[in-house]
Amino acid sequence: MNDTRKKIVAGNWKMNLSLQEAQSLTAELIGMIQDEKHNACEVFLFPPFVYINTINKQIQDNPIQVGAQNCADQLSGAYTGEVSVSMLNSIGANAVLIGHSERRTYYHESNQTCATKINLAIQHNIIPFYCIGETLNERNANQQFEIIEKQLNDGIFHLSAEDFSKCVIAYEPVWAIGTGLTASPEQAQEMHAFIRSKIADKYSMEIAQKVSILYGGSCNDQNAKELFALTDVDGGLIGGASLKSRNFMNIINAI
Ligand code: PEP
Repeated sequence: MNDTRKKIVAGNWKMNLSLQEAQSLTAELIGMIQDEKHNACEVFLFPPFVYINTINKQIQDNPIQVGAQNCADQLSGAYTGEVSVSMLNSIGANAVLIGHSERRTYYHESNQTCATKINLAIQHNIIPFYCIGETLNERNANQQFEIIEKQLNDGIFHLSAEDFSKCVIAYEPVWAIGTGLTASPEQAQEMHAFIRSKIADKYSMEIAQKVSILYGGSCNDQNAKELFALTDVDGGLIGGASLKSRNFMNIINAI
């Protein structure tokens, strides 16, 4: 772990929890963070859209930030069912997940769609958490570096250096998401270092050293410490293990 970069632990609740369960989880987390959190890591929650406003109000002055799991690739108008970044901004969300593998797989989101969403998020002062990762077939074919490079080139490297510096990258190997299979420390460090080297090639070493790159994919309170200790891993994007306050808090404390 590098001490100069922002450390982040983020919980992606996906399409889980009733409003009451979401509020209880948040209340438990607030209590634990007040009692136990002794590190400088930033905590983000990504609830379903319909809970963002409520959870944001519940958090009040506690050091937790709230974001959305997705946003529209348009700003307003006749796009039934969509939610724009300006709407997110108006309810106090300050981050958005873009390009999560479930969006890419089930809703056919391309790197180009991600690029459009990233632009909109930046224009509305919302931090894009750009999610990238290879599938198992791609890794088995040893194409993981090529895939990640393309996701970076087509999805985010169009940004200016200034705008790129506002983003967070989440490396989430698709084969590790929700499967219980975690990338080994060697695999995670190798890919995070590769991502950072591509950022240095595109922008500068200085920018590459400042950008937070999170690991996601079956990260839990048993493996977080080892993953977070890696030189180029700056925290985690946590799915399943963010739904239980104790597990999530243990992961926050693992930084
Ligand atoms: C995710 O959805 O971003 C994720 C990492 O999920 P899980 O932790 O459940 O693998």
